[in-house]
Amino acid sequence: MDNTLLRGTVFLIVFSAVAFSEIRWPRLSSHHSKKTRWQRNLGLIAIDVVVVYLWMPLTVVMVATRVHDHQLGILNQIPLPTPMVWLIALIWMDMVIYWQHRWFHQIGCLWRLHKVHHLDLDIDVSTGLRFHPAEILLSLLLKCAAVAFMGVPAQVVVVSEILINSAAMFNHGNIAIPAPLDRLLRHFLVTPDMHRIHHSVTVRETNSNYGFCLSWWDFLFHSYTEHPQKGHQGMQIGLSDYQSFARHTLVYLLKLPFIPPQPDDASAPK
Ligand SMILES: [Zn+2]
Repeated sequence: MDNTLLRGTVFLIVFSAVAFSEIRWPRLSSHHSKKTRWQRNLGLIAIDVVVVYLWMPLTVVMVATRVHDHQLGILNQIPLPTPMVWLIALIWMDMVIYWQHRWFHQIGCLWRLHKVHHLDLDIDVSTGLRFHPAEILLSLLLKCAAVAFMGVPAQVVVVSEILINSAAMFNHGNIAIPAPLDRLLRHFLVTPDMHRIHHSVTVRETNSNYGFCLSWWDFLFHSYTEHPQKGHQGMQIGLSDYQSFARHTLVYLLKLPFIPPQPDDASAPK
């Protein structure tokens, strides 16, 4: 199957499954109009698809192919069985996404782009896909560098994109997962309850739980928060200085990174 068709098919299946689960087993009730939120989120996602998603992932695949042709990158220097290469490459790409996400929180100019994702005042599957196009573009450039450095095979690039995208939709899902199952899954996967803490207005909680797919990185790099201080029902979503829902139009979201932040912006990296 063609890579774009494969990615699109998996995307539609996972998106529909998470959206259905949100209706069937919702975790939290919405505070704001879902219709208006989805109009804005889907608008931003449509721009992302046209501007970046449709053509840029192929660039990462092209980099992977060139790196392989010239036998560059770490994995091309070591004779390893193919399953081992795949495993290392997939884990490497997930760790890169963890650090990329952390840098987008810690570096001022990157935070201005990533803030657009965090402005959503409720969280569901549509939040997991709403990013400023410039953030996606920068993320793809970083992925190109990570693929070249490690010598990630082209097929792994495609599988990794599918896994990370699916994980983002799952862990932003407003799905009630029984606590024992959540605890079990958290040993290796970022669950919706774990990631929702990252969308808390409490800055200490926002700056934790950066993982997208594997939960290990937050344990390993000391950025794990187990529970929100106010509990899942009591926690507030979004950023404390950006709680005006009416203001968050699609045009505002696109312009936000270019609007200088207030000096007392509580969410800005210190
Ligand atoms: Zn974030």
